[in-house]
Amino acid sequence: MNQKNTQLEKIISFAKRRSFVFSSSEIYGGMESIYDYGHYGTLLKNNIRDAWWKEMVQKRDDVYALDSAIFMHPQTWVSSGHTEGFDDPQVDCTDCKKRMRADHILEDNGIEADKASIEFINKELQKLDIKCASCGSKNLTEARRFSLMIKSNLGSPTEDLSEEHVVYLRPETCGGIYLQYKNMLDSVHPKLPFGVAQVGKAFRNEIVARQFIFRTREFEQMEMQYFLRPEEMKEKYEMWKELRFNWYTQYGIPKEKLRWHEHEVLAHYASEAYDIEFYFDCLNGFKEVEGVHARGDWDLSEHSKHSGEDLTYFDEDKKEKMIPHIMETSAGLNRVFLMFLDNAYTEEDVEGEKRVVLKIDKRLSPIKVAVFPLMKNKTELVEKSKELYDKLKERWMCEFSTTGSIGKRYRKQDEIGTPYCVTVDFDSLSDESVTVRERDSMKQERVKISDLEKYLKERL
Ligand code: ATP
Repeated sequence: MNQKNTQLEKIISFAKRRSFVFSSSEIYGGMESIYDYGHYGTLLKNNIRDAWWKEMVQKRDDVYALDSAIFMHPQTWVSSGHTEGFDDPQVDCTDCKKRMRADHILEDNGIEADKASIEFINKELQKLDIKCASCGSKNLTEARRFSLMIKSNLGSPTEDLSEEHVVYLRPETCGGIYLQYKNMLDSVHPKLPFGVAQVGKAFRNEIVARQFIFRTREFEQMEMQYFLRPEEMKEKYEMWKELRFNWYTQYGIPKEKLRWHEHEVLAHYASEAYDIEFYFDCLNGFKEVEGVHARGDWDLSEHSKHSGEDLTYFDEDKKEKMIPHIMETSAGLNRVFLMFLDNAYTEEDVEGEKRVVLKIDKRLSPIKVAVFPLMKNKTELVEKSKELYDKLKERWMCEFSTTGSIGKRYRKQDEIGTPYCVTVDFDSLSDESVTVRERDSMKQERVKISDLEKYLKERL
């Protein structure tokens, strides 16, 4: 097993063992590239999502919230070009039937192939000595386009399964923002420049779904579409690039593990496209976590043209109608989740014993405080600690535990990233104080019960 696999395998097994991430439908043999989130995983994912909302909506006066449906009118994806062109180039091994992404094969050989034509890809593939990644065979098909759109049917398609009933599971969340742009304009009355943000599920029939939750067929996106005048694009684009990069560092991601990747080949409507990439130890390289793209007025113009609706904005200053231009920030919640796990997962040697600790920003920790009685068979200690736990859980996500030795309870909380453990011991009964242990330093402090909430509030 190479180093890359070791780190990835560690994270996968840790995530399952500690109720972060499970394979979907495991009792039926599992489903490739679909995952479920357990107790701590759900809490962590929600905390990441909430941290994004806080930055993108709560702290801003110019961004509004939306939660649009997964299903949209099928014409949406014709207008946006997805039904025609949302696909990846695929190569198949004719011997073992393994599927591979042709653009990834080229990229592994140092050839930029994002959005490249199928002719270009096949020409470049011919120059290389390509073998099947699974069986080593050289019997590979030419590259061909494979649609990433997942189809479903709505209504009662008992007899007629014609195209009329076909709907798509949205491949990105921004479509809903474009379709509700007019309603948002008429109901919230924002002035340019303004943004609309949403977090929600997206679905892609990925050819090669791999690398745990990095690339899955069902995932969540955190997207914000910022509507502006074309002359504002440059300044606002730089502003959002900086804000988005800083969001990661504010939550503990080291600057050195982040970088910008500029798209060399742009979509025809885009003027600038950069991705934020993070160095994943478990994937042995820099990989995209978020895109920051300048999209021009293409999306609204196309939806206006195909729907017949007037999607212009009346610019009061200039006294003229115009179609706003758009810049977007689009991050994958599950990928960002993997990034935080990868960055925080730490193995340490403590007095000859291995300690696994999730050194994650406290604001993201699934459990903020764990409360224990020193011994589980001493009623006074259990009652006092339970009382404390009941009080603290009104404010924070807390956990109460009596199982195992104190050392074991600390270790379990370290693994799930709990910043503070509070222990009620025999002295607590007389001095009304408790021992508070901090996760990273493992330092312990005696704190008066009457000061405990204040103490924790200052640190969490
Ligand atoms: P990639 O090149 O990795 O396929 P993309 O450029 O197609 O990604 P976008 O369409 O820009 O991705 O989507 C925005 C974000 O959504 C990505 O930066 C990524 O974090 C997330 N994302 C996209 N596809 C997936 C997927 N299959 N699984 C998990 N997250 C995804």
